[in-house]
Amino acid sequence: MDMRFPYSPAEVAKVRMVQFGILSPDEIRQMSVVQVEHSETMERGKPKVGGLSDPRLGTIDRKLKCETCTANMAECPGHFGHLELAKPMFHIGFLKTVLSIMRSVCFNCSKILADEEDHKFKQALKIKNPKNRLKKILDACKNKTKCEGGDELEVQGQDSEQPAKKSRGGCGAQQPKLTIEGMKMIAEYKAQRKKSDDQEQLPEPVERKQTLTAERVLSILKRISDEDCQLLGLNPKYARPDWMILQVLPIPPPPDDLTHQLAMIIRHNENLRKQERNGAPAHIISEFAQLLQFHIATYFDNELPGQPRATQRSGRPIKSICSRLKAKEGRIRGNLMGKRVDFSARTVITPDPNINIDELGVPWSIALNLTYPETVTPYNIERLKELVEYGPHPPPGKTGAKYIIRDDGQRLDLRYLKKSSGAAFE
Ligand SMILES: [Zn+2]
Ligand SMILES: [Zn+2]
Repeated sequence: MDMRFPYSPAEVAKVRMVQFGILSPDEIRQMSVVQVEHSETMERGKPKVGGLSDPRLGTIDRKLKCETCTANMAECPGHFGHLELAKPMFHIGFLKTVLSIMRSVCFNCSKILADEEDHKFKQALKIKNPKNRLKKILDACKNKTKCEGGDELEVQGQDSEQPAKKSRGGCGAQQPKLTIEGMKMIAEYKAQRKKSDDQEQLPEPVERKQTLTAERVLSILKRISDEDCQLLGLNPKYARPDWMILQVLPIPPPPDDLTHQLAMIIRHNENLRKQERNGAPAHIISEFAQLLQFHIATYFDNELPGQPRATQRSGRPIKSICSRLKAKEGRIRGNLMGKRVDFSARTVITPDPNINIDELGVPWSIALNLTYPETVTPYNIERLKELVEYGPHPPPGKTGAKYIIRDDGQRLDLRYLKKSSGAAFE
């Protein structure tokens, strides 16, 4: 093993394959070492069991050992816990995809709204790229106002000898128009009016516009068959559409700047559960659910358009998971793209009429700093001697040297070495 990595008691395994997917609620529970239930972290000076600093999640105390892997603070990699949500919640990162899927399937029976009778749908099925296929299927489905294929189609087939058209087995339900408003999904029914009939038969639509709870959306997504998932571009083994609705929240190991926000989530989750248990009226429960939804959304991303920022008590906006990845100081821009390494420098790039088309100009100040270690051999010693002679400030067009590194690792800085002392190659 490479000794540059510190020792860790964590199991080592070989990576054979990488498969991306969405964690299912069961997977989150299975990888969890503790069900978190309390927003408090400490109790009588010790990490509270079932709290956000439960000793099974890892330790932030030099004196304590992790109760999952028994390693100390430096060696324990940290372990995930989980929080059971009182109600399903939208995952802000999946909201748009969920909307696309919801628009493609029947509101009542969860079947894809178009079938192969539809030219657009037929075309869509030929597309290999799953993401593009979902787009085209959505295209074929979005104008369907009804889940066709019920009885009505068959009736027409009666008089002719032709075999009745193969029905897609839809349920006939009318389809609402779906939109997203902030963190809510809205279903709107067109006023239903039968062609000729009297008014009494048609009860004024009770509520033409209704807010869809994540719970309702979840139950629709759950009924989508594995085959339809596949058509919609989702591999049901790794990314069932219903997994895009949060039912269980993974809790990261401490310490974490997100701990504060998680405590808020646990508190609001508990409040919601309490209201439900006490049989509070629906509008109250919905309000508490909205509050929980807000905190879960801002935990993932605190820069959502049209949403207020979640803040610390001081008024400073809370850092979200999203900003840890994509912000300037985040993992991608800060650590991966902006990785600092030796023997490199950066500068502004411009055209230069003084150099040839196949040449690259390097600013003098950078050229003087960009160094490369070269081992002294009998073959290059004469050339290297010359470089050392020029030292750290060679005349224009010449190459110099900054340091001499001896066999024992001692580094001689040529800035402070007297010229031609000969000390270097002794
Ligand atoms: Zn551990
Ligand atoms: Zn249907």
